Amino acid sequence: MIMTALVSRILDMPLGFDASSFNLGCTARKFFMPGNVGTHYLLGSKNNEHYLSSMLCDCSVCQKINISDIYEDTGKSGAIISLHNLYCTIEENRIINCLADDIKNLTLYAHTIARKDYNIVNNTLSILSDYSTHGLEYVYNKYTMLFIEKVDQKRFKNLSGIK
Ligand SMILES: [Zn+2]
Repeated sequence: MIMTALVSRILDMPLGFDASSFNLGCTARKFFMPGNVGTHYLLGSKNNEHYLSSMLCDCSVCQKINISDIYEDTGKSGAIISLHNLYCTIEENRIINCLADDIKNLTLYAHTIARKDYNIVNNTLSILSDYSTHGLEYVYNKYTMLFIEKVDQKRFKNLSGIK
């Protein structure tokens, strides 16, 4: 979401991304922690394992339910978790878009809240700058290590791996 916001600002056009992971609430009962949608918490099962004693979140979805709604057995609980996850995804994206013009604070946010490497913002900006100045082939050659398929996990470091 951070890279999408930066590219969207620089290109001055809206960009979308696949945010379907919110549905992990229905499929796997995974609960996104507010402010960190990259981390998914397990809530326990509907039948016997209840890990939470109260709601962890105060979003507009969670404000309208109580903890027993998360563990009910009619199928509604998965939908509730997914709606919470969707809310958290939209909220985190809103925050990132607010910070997209403020590189210092976006970098701080990326590191402290989203737990991304400090370098992700600067590396993304470097790629975009190199693309504007030197073109696609230069970017591809300079950042080839980022375009390699995920065959060798040691070499694949995403944008955090640029020096
Ligand atoms: Zn919530």
